[in-house]
Amino acid sequence: MKDSTGRKITYLRLSVTDLCNLRCRYCMPEAGVCAKAHDEMLTEEEMLSAVRAAVSLGVNKVRITGGEPLIKKNIVSICEKTASVPGVKDLALTTNGTLLAGMASDLRKAGVMRINISLDTIVPEKYSYITRRGKLEDVFSGIEAALEAGFRKIKINTVLIGGFNDDEIPDLAALTMKWPVDIRFIELMPVYNSPDIGPEAYINASKIIEALPGLKEDCTDGVARLYSLKGAKGKIGIISPVSNAFCSDCNRVRITADGKIKPCLHRAAEYSIKGLSESKMKDQLARAISEKPERRGELSCASPSGAGRYMNQIGG
Ligand code: SAM
Ligand code: SF4
Repeated sequence: MKDSTGRKITYLRLSVTDLCNLRCRYCMPEAGVCAKAHDEMLTEEEMLSAVRAAVSLGVNKVRITGGEPLIKKNIVSICEKTASVPGVKDLALTTNGTLLAGMASDLRKAGVMRINISLDTIVPEKYSYITRRGKLEDVFSGIEAALEAGFRKIKINTVLIGGFNDDEIPDLAALTMKWPVDIRFIELMPVYNSPDIGPEAYINASKIIEALPGLKEDCTDGVARLYSLKGAKGKIGIISPVSNAFCSDCNRVRITADGKIKPCLHRAAEYSIKGLSESKMKDQLARAISEKPERRGELSCASPSGAGRYMNQIGG
């Protein structure tokens, strides 16, 4: 389906939980989020109805996200059933990777084709600091398991945080020499006003180019500009949602774990599908897409996101 500005909506980001085993300082508060009652969250059947409804409107790519999707008990079943919805041509999943070592093979067998693993630093103490509780070695084991499981594509997502990991850009980029993975540097978005993240943390992704003199320009892939290092096994992507809004090319719609359609990440507008039949979900999705805002509006420290939720409650 096309929205009112002619953008074709083909990509659904489905959040299966807002809970997480980590507490990344830029994403959510240390105390976590107030767990909602079980009956306020989408059931597995409702998630599948939402996927079918979205597919009937033209969606062909689904990304499972969270919170942390791998803490969800029925995640393999959700993936398997989503992958078998006729019309889903591409099923991807975003994870922090800490639980991936024991699940990569099952997820691949369930039909997950591509996996994104979030990793902001390769210094163990810094990893434990930024996630408030994670162990870097678990993510490395997760990446190794994903490589063995044979996903079509593995991407590492790194949020660029000034004063925290901008000194690690060459070391993080060098992961593409070690493994056949892409690494994508993403500008930090002012969504959660965290006491640990000051204005200096918000830096322009052009820092990546400055820090990697040997970088060769490649092509674009969706919202990412791609580059590579000589002799590398994977590419380096730069995603600049703050300095270079890609609203005019936005092809996505989000559904939160509590059943709210968000046609724009940075706007508060939400359309509820909890408890609806599949055909009513389709009506709500069609309404949300037709009312998708043309642009996200100003986004900076002085003018933070209007998302109205923490990132773990949206899915990124
Ligand atoms: N827990 C999973 C993970 O970390 O990959 C999936 C959910 S997480 C909300 C999805 C992505 O959003 C992660 O790559 C995370 O780093 C990113 N993210 C969270 N808060 C962000 C922010 N303020 N700006 C940019 N990216 C953010
Ligand atoms: Fe959890 Fe992902 Fe948010 Fe980190 S970024 S707290 S892993 S949801």
